[in-house]
Amino acid sequence: MATTTDVLVVGGGVIGCSIAFHLARRRVGRVVLLEKAYLGAGSSGKSGAIIRQHYSNALTVAMARKSLAVFEHFPDAVGGPPVFTRTGMAIVVNERDRAGLEGNLELQRGLGVDVRLVTAQELTEIDPNAHLGEDELAAFESEAGYVESVQVVASYADSARRARADVRLGVEVKAILTDKGRITGVETNEGTYECGTLVLATGPWAAQLARTLKLNLPVQACRTQVALFRRPPDCGRRGVVYGDFVQGIYFKPTHGEMIHAGSLAGEEVNDPVDPDHYNEAADGPWLPQVRQRLGRRYPAMHRGYGRGGFGALYGITPDWHPILDRLPGLEGAYCAVGFSGHGFKLSPIVGQLMTELIVDGKASVLDIAPLRLSRFDENDLVKTPYSYGVMG
Ligand SMILES: Cc1cc2nc3c(=O)[nH]c(=O)nc-3n(C[C@H](O)[C@H](O)[C@H](O)COP(=O)(O)OP(=O)(O)OC[C@H]3O[C@@H](n4cnc5c(N)ncnc54)[C@H](O)[C@@H]3O)c2cc1C
Repeated sequence: MATTTDVLVVGGGVIGCSIAFHLARRRVGRVVLLEKAYLGAGSSGKSGAIIRQHYSNALTVAMARKSLAVFEHFPDAVGGPPVFTRTGMAIVVNERDRAGLEGNLELQRGLGVDVRLVTAQELTEIDPNAHLGEDELAAFESEAGYVESVQVVASYADSARRARADVRLGVEVKAILTDKGRITGVETNEGTYECGTLVLATGPWAAQLARTLKLNLPVQACRTQVALFRRPPDCGRRGVVYGDFVQGIYFKPTHGEMIHAGSLAGEEVNDPVDPDHYNEAADGPWLPQVRQRLGRRYPAMHRGYGRGGFGALYGITPDWHPILDRLPGLEGAYCAVGFSGHGFKLSPIVGQLMTELIVDGKASVLDIAPLRLSRFDENDLVKTPYSYGVMG
């Protein structure tokens, strides 16, 4: 017998769980979230989950800013334990990228972000581990930090359940059912779920499932990598988060005395993978390259203790920005996918915006038209004036 629901959310990553939480709080009827594996099994559970507002367009700065306010007060705003660690974040670029960096800082300051250029001396006062070369320039965003990604996903799911959403694990959506241009339900390994509203929050799997509707969602599952190092005892106090465009890496303090480091060069697009069968280990030759780059910014890390690394997934769109929209030609169907390696920090506001779109017919807190699906066909991509990288 079919299970009857009002709203069905597919995908138990941070985006699906945030959407289910917001929908359930709006009391929109029976909300069910289906996750084929376990919570956070895709990108979310492996995320660096750096929370920054350093973007180069007003919409994503505003999305990050509103989301930061939620992360800062997570126990009250959502539930569960505190999740946010404030460290501040340094952005490092080549002197030749000064104009681009200053332009971005001006935009961010105009939207209320506390960010400023700092000298090499000021940077070492902020983070004694750091070295800044003569032809390098640094900015510091004071409010940035990172969150505990697995806990965020779990807390969203728990709070959604408390608001009477049903979060079901091990249920894979195999096909989407429609009738006369309307969504009617989904077929799963546990039978049919009927629904009037469907939200795809399927991360790197987005294109796969949309294909069952003959719909092209331009989201490519790609492999990214993370390197882990234990800081040597003389590496000074725990540092800040870095977006280091000179070395092409980001890095952040993580559990214990560890540092989590990954690429900022956007090379993931060259490694498309089947998200169900990808290499979850880090490539042997890549790890020493990261150590070298990290050591140029943090000289003590030349003596860092390599602790391996892991492979993970990004779901990348052509402009590295997400798609928040209705699905075309199908009443009752929506998607929030394609977060391209930077969606964790946006998850609180995405849950709210998608709920407004679904329940009220329009997102009102922010105008999300720039993130519509049709932008790819209209050649109206979200542009970034960055000359120095892929942070959006
Ligand atoms: C190594 C790494 C570092 C990152 N660092 C940052 C960072 O510092 N800051 C930041 O903001 N973002 C960062 N990101 C990006 C961020 O983590 C992602 O954008 C975000 O987690 C995407 O969440 P999601 O819910 O869309 O996707 P996912 O977490 O991938 O969730 C999708 C879920 O859908 C499920 N699913 C798929 N198909 C089906 C189906 N047919 N039926 C049922 N369930 C299905 C999957 O099992 C999966 O659990 C990073 C990502 C990685 C991998």
